Amino acid sequence: MIIWGSKPITGTLGAGNFNCPVCTRNQQYDQKRVRRFFTLYFIPLFPTSTLGQYVECRSCQGTFEPGILSYDPAAETQKTEALFMTAVKQIMIHVCLADGSIDDEEVSQIQNIYEQLTGARIGESDLREEITTISQDSNTLYGLIDHLNGQLNDTGKETAIRSAYLIAAADGNVDQSELEMIQRIAHRMSISPTHLNGILASVQQQG
Ligand SMILES: [Zn+2]
Repeated sequence: MIIWGSKPITGTLGAGNFNCPVCTRNQQYDQKRVRRFFTLYFIPLFPTSTLGQYVECRSCQGTFEPGILSYDPAAETQKTEALFMTAVKQIMIHVCLADGSIDDEEVSQIQNIYEQLTGARIGESDLREEITTISQDSNTLYGLIDHLNGQLNDTGKETAIRSAYLIAAADGNVDQSELEMIQRIAHRMSISPTHLNGILASVQQQG
């Protein structure tokens, strides 16, 4: 009697280092492939199909989709930071546009507040270009905020609100149209009126 069958066999395709999301640090991994083998008298002879691939952390033995190898937390952080800086810049432009056009004084105020909050400086020509773009299509604000909501934590959102208030107050007083704009931004970020008042009060104390 010929005894034949099949069995899954796991082989190693490769190894290297990756950012293990369980260990939350760089670890060694093995990339594995599971294939079904045709067996004769229980001896695997040849593969008949590939069942799947996965990546296994050598430290915690956690298994992950192969896509995990391209996961780079540093790059993710950078992306969030870039998004945050864009948000601060664009929110300030929208607040300035709330009461009409943006004058030279406001351009330099945006530059200063941006630098104060993000530690980076925007070039004047870049900023003016952005102002032109936004003044031609001012409907971009809510789309931007909706995008931010999934990315920014509470601190990021609070800083964005602070930037809005600082630029509104830069000319000496926050007028009604500016305040309403800040309230709309906060509402869209799911920041409650009470929370917003707290943020505004803390900015006023500092400034
Ligand atoms: Zn691990």
